Amino acid sequence: MDPNAPKVSRRKLLKNAAVAGGGAAASLLGGGLQAAQAPAVVTGTQVGRRFRAYVVRGNAADATIQSANAAVEQVTLKALDENRVLIRTEACQVCYTITGQAVANYNPARILGHGAVGIVEAIGTKVRRVQVGDRVLVANTPYCGQCYTCLRGRPDRCQMLPGAGNPMLPIGTLSDGADVVQHNNEGGFGELMLPYEWYCVPIFTNNVTPVELSMLGCVGACGLGTVFGVAPIEPASDVAILGCGPVGLSAVQGARIKGASQIIAIDPVRARRDLALKLGATVVFDPNAEGANLVAKVKDLCKWPSDRKFAGGRDWTPANNNIGPDFVIEAVGGDRFPPKAEVGPDPTGVLPLQQAWQMCSSAGHVTTVSVGQRGNFTLPAGQWSNGAKNHHPGNMNGVSTLRDMQRFARLVETGQFNAKAMATAVFPLDRTKEAIQAVCDRTTISAVITFS
Ligand SMILES: [Zn+2]
Ligand SMILES: [Zn+2]
Repeated sequence: MDPNAPKVSRRKLLKNAAVAGGGAAASLLGGGLQAAQAPAVVTGTQVGRRFRAYVVRGNAADATIQSANAAVEQVTLKALDENRVLIRTEACQVCYTITGQAVANYNPARILGHGAVGIVEAIGTKVRRVQVGDRVLVANTPYCGQCYTCLRGRPDRCQMLPGAGNPMLPIGTLSDGADVVQHNNEGGFGELMLPYEWYCVPIFTNNVTPVELSMLGCVGACGLGTVFGVAPIEPASDVAILGCGPVGLSAVQGARIKGASQIIAIDPVRARRDLALKLGATVVFDPNAEGANLVAKVKDLCKWPSDRKFAGGRDWTPANNNIGPDFVIEAVGGDRFPPKAEVGPDPTGVLPLQQAWQMCSSAGHVTTVSVGQRGNFTLPAGQWSNGAKNHHPGNMNGVSTLRDMQRFARLVETGQFNAKAMATAVFPLDRTKEAIQAVCDRTTISAVITFS
């Protein structure tokens, strides 16, 4: 190759495409006006456009993934809202939380999928963040940058999340005329997505695939949020991570990136422990094999080199609670259905929450990120009250998608974060039910739906 040849980067191509499409920020309200100069990527009109998507309708309480009233259906678009972005989906990761949504009793019907990646084909009149031709990550949480929680350092709780004040409005109709909404206003299991602008982050990379990027939209950001977010991991620290699904494995990698010296990964599934070791864990434990000794064993590994407390050391007396990981990350969650892989010690997900608290050192940080627990749990009241352990709950723990997603994509681009290793199964849209089942069975680390 001629070293003097001009370099053509994807970043530059995207920039040019965006300029070419700049005049096509079509007003798509109230009937879908045609842009005077539509970019090449736009095909046909927007209103009335048809695409296929995985749709869940009404379900009884005992529905299973396989028996659920859910299928790939045809959707006909309504008018594009002035704040929405029309995206041709490239890939969408399948999260364990989807297993609950896949059997839910939805009315109106709902397109599932969150944390997807795709190419912008059209934008509403008020959209400024992305341009036609951009590759965008549609994050699982919005970032408006203007609301109370965004401005106070918790954009992962941005008030543009769906709720009473932000309903999930229908974006299209199904072939029987019924309205359809997108889960979380995202709809990643559709050939087209229509998220609001505040979910979208343009990503500029040269050699990161859509499958890799899709791992960042939810699970990657949740795992990295536990180490980059409100309780940032310090160099040379001891870190324990309970649960080595895609969230826990993202935390393992994040702890390595942040310079932790000891990364203890805990999971009942052997394949997940093996992968944790490849991705940065220094020690792994099977919670079934360790049983009641797990907490003491982890604490004992985290003594710090010296017990000379007059010289920066730690008192090694176990009852004094000074030894233990500086950072404990809990990413286990409850089992919605019995897994086909190795079953953990507590399907309700409560025990790992207690163990996370117990193994943490005094003045350490416990970050919990998992979902789906059933029941309540108890903690030593005095320790909870003034034991100096810090608890940080929440999915992304302060991740600002607009600030951090490009940063995370760069970690993939440079090989610091291995997203490919976690995307262990890829399915086309027609096999979405199979993909959800595999995630439900925990026989894959993660699954990704891809679109041709
Ligand atoms: Zn998710
Ligand atoms: Zn906000």
